[in-house]
Amino acid sequence: MSRTTPPRPLDVTALFPRLAPLARAATRLHPRAGSPSRYDSSVGGPLLWPAGEPWPHCDEPHTWDQVEAAFPLEEEREERGIPTREPGRPQQASDAEEAGEGAAGDMADADLPWPGGPMPMLPVAQLSARDVPLLRPPGGAEADLLQVLWCPFDHPDHPRTALFWRSASEVTDVLDAPPEPPGIEYPGYLPQPCLLAPEEITEYPHFLELDKETREQLADWSRWRAAGAVVDGSYAEAPQEFYTTRLSVAPGWKAGGWSRWGLTDPMPRVCSVCGTAMDPLLTIATTEWNSGTESWAPEGDQARDPLPPGVPPANYTRVVLAGGYSLQLHVCPVSEDHPHLELVQ
Ligand SMILES: [Zn+2]
Ligand SMILES: [Zn+2]
Repeated sequence: MSRTTPPRPLDVTALFPRLAPLARAATRLHPRAGSPSRYDSSVGGPLLWPAGEPWPHCDEPHTWDQVEAAFPLEEEREERGIPTREPGRPQQASDAEEAGEGAAGDMADADLPWPGGPMPMLPVAQLSARDVPLLRPPGGAEADLLQVLWCPFDHPDHPRTALFWRSASEVTDVLDAPPEPPGIEYPGYLPQPCLLAPEEITEYPHFLELDKETREQLADWSRWRAAGAVVDGSYAEAPQEFYTTRLSVAPGWKAGGWSRWGLTDPMPRVCSVCGTAMDPLLTIATTEWNSGTESWAPEGDQARDPLPPGVPPANYTRVVLAGGYSLQLHVCPVSEDHPHLELVQ
């Protein structure tokens, strides 16, 4: 099921040739609720994880405040109609269970055994190079599968993420029932299982990432008038807004492309190990678009994908981050061993 972004209202490089060399490919993921298998690219789906490899855990401290406010994982799944674990499968592989303190249902109760120990992480996304061809592991490593997990607790104001690259063909013995955290700090930290419909698009840098001369050109209404009626007069005061919302960076979940900015002005993103400029890898978004970026909504999409009452528009993954913003994972191109960067914007 493909999804197509409507054509941009104008060819921005024809009006502003200085932007042409800055064109960058991005892949919009278009996540929509579904039942992904561990072999699919997905958001919130099961991972193709080797049985012989330890499941990632978060070793950072989790406070009692977080625990008391936590939402039990299985209750949240039930409420949203997400299938819970099949009967007969282990609900958790936590220390608590091994100690006979009961299964997930009981763990919603007051005497939760954590936050003492490491917290099993939750799958957030799995991307195969088969579906997202521009996906390349840093440092030229051999890998065709990116797996992203997070600890569903604030560290300190958003979940802490972990990235894994691997070759799908090397995973022959698959981990069937990974351990799970008993709860999530906010319902928005449990991604709805979604299938993807990746679509490659072209992006240009955020207005504030451009050099002074290009910014001056974009802010000059007389230049935009050459585009005719496509850009209406309401943009005369600040025509760069038209560039920002419709022509530069796509909203929603995406791989690659340019960094999104909104909370702060752009700042350098450099590797903490080697100082190399980092590249956007994956943007984890709250909504696929909002009132300012509606022009990016695939045609007919809202009619195709009704959301339950009370869910914000275009919040198909049900992920809610930092009050509606995005978590953008950046990686160092030199080596996958260099730590990634989490940017909230
Ligand atoms: Zn954690
Ligand atoms: Zn580096």
